[in-house]
Parts: sequence; structure tokens; C-alpha cells
Amino acid sequence: MFPRLGKFATIRTVRGPAGARRRQQPSECVSLRFMLSIILLLTALGCSALPTRTLSLPSRYTLVREPLVVYSDFPVEAHHRLLDELIARRGDIGRILDLPYSNERIHVYLFENTDRFQRFMRRYHPDLPDRRAFFLETDTRLMVYAQWGDRVAEDLRHEVTHACLHAVVPNLPLWLDEGLAEYFEVPRGYAGLNRENLGIVVGQMERGTWNPDLKRLERIGPNDEMNHEEYAESWAWVHFLLHGGTEGAELLRGYLADLRAHAAAEPVSQRLERLVASPNQALDHHVRRLATTLN
Ligand SMILES: [Zn+2]
Repeated sequence: MFPRLGKFATIRTVRGPAGARRRQQPSECVSLRFMLSIILLLTALGCSALPTRTLSLPSRYTLVREPLVVYSDFPVEAHHRLLDELIARRGDIGRILDLPYSNERIHVYLFENTDRFQRFMRRYHPDLPDRRAFFLETDTRLMVYAQWGDRVAEDLRHEVTHACLHAVVPNLPLWLDEGLAEYFEVPRGYAGLNRENLGIVVGQMERGTWNPDLKRLERIGPNDEMNHEEYAESWAWVHFLLHGGTEGAELLRGYLADLRAHAAAEPVSQRLERLVASPNQALDHHVRRLATTLN
């Protein structure tokens, strides 16, 4: 069961039900398989049929910082450090994952506040859960909806990561899509250490409920929902692959290269079983080592 965006759209990924995660309004990532609703396209074009400006997409200002095109109803500094970081993050993603840069533009609609964002979402996407930000994909456009606020940087890093990945990698499994977005949503210089997710995993360890299972994550379908623990575990596997040794990073890069080449690839779990005798144990050791950084 999952919410829909009109009859053309399906939810690609979610971050769990509103309020269930420690984040007050987690962001959400949505892929539109075919096209956005007519209403959405009209709003993007500033159609005069809209009831009020407050119910349209932000459009007063347009700022181009390739590959980003930022639309807002308030001025945004062309060299705002947040935009500089997003541009640099795109470079990080390409370098760390050995992925090419795409020239495809990422259209970022930046709502000036929560109220404005929620009014728009309730009007045009009433079936969607309460979230701070969304990534949307059509056959021709990559889009991010986000709201200005205390967590806009984190939200944009997360959603723009999805856009960068979707621009060059087809059929990315949901767990890896989210695991990578959770990895790259932390500020540059943190080496992907997502303390919120690490805290979730450590909490599971303390309660005796930590039972990582990558094959189970791989069975999560593109339209399924992931809960907070699955987000955290996905992040943990990604962090382990990228920081548990050079072979893990090469494994992940090879997997993504195969996806790019063939739109399908042998699952990460099978590759990992050839690399380490006990992937779960190796992940457990990796996370316990990371947990010492929480103190
Ligand atoms: Zn996401």
C-alpha cells in the first residue's frame, strides 16, 4: 500500500510514516514514472488558472548554478554556501562512486517556509504524507521540492543526491538509493557519518533487536515503504562498503557500473558473500567501531 501522485505517478521511496521517525517531518523521495499531473505542469508554467500565488510552485526568482536550477519566491544568493556545497557534493558523488557527471539539470523548487510548502502539497498532492522535502522524477525532468528552514541543507543534500544518482544509474534498488542519500546528506567532511542513523542502529543493538539482513533489504520493491530502521541499516551497509576497506568500495563501484551498463546487476549481497566470510559480522564490527565516535 502506498500513496499515489495522481493517476500517472507512483511513490518511489519513502522514509516511513510521518511522526514515526525522530525527524519531525522527514523528507521523501518520489519518482513519477510517466509525467506529473496536469495541475503540476500548469503550476510550473505559472498558469493563470491557479487560485492564488501561494498555491503555485515558487517561480518569482530563477537561479542557475549548473546542474541546479533553483526556483523561489524570495532571493537566494547566487553563491550561497548551501548551493556551493550542493555543487561540490555532486562532485563527491561522482568521485566516490566512480560515476560520470550528468549535464541533466536538477530543478529545485524552494518554498519560503513550511506553511507555504504544506499548503501547496495539501492542494496538489493531498495523498502524500507530511514530509519536509520530495524528490520527483519524470521521463524528462529531475525535480526537488524543499522548504527553507533549519534543515534545508540536510534535505537538499539528501534529495539532490537522489537526483544525481538517478541521472546516471538506472534501476537503483530502493535500499541503496536511500542508503546513499543518507550517506551523502551529512555535511562534507563528515565522511558519510550519519549520527542519527548510527544512533538508531546503536539503539537496536542495546535492545537486542539489531539483525541486519541485506538480502531482506534487497527484496524491498520500488514502491514499498521503508521504516526508520531500514533507512538506518541501508546507511550502515553503504558506510561499511565505502569505509570498511578498499575492496568494499570497489564492489559498490562495480555494482553501479554494471547497473549503468546493463540496467541489471548481480545483487550486492551475493558479491559481498564472496568478499567476506560473514558480512553481517563484518558490518556489526564496523558499526560498533563507529559507535565509539558517538561518545
Ligand atoms: Zn530519500
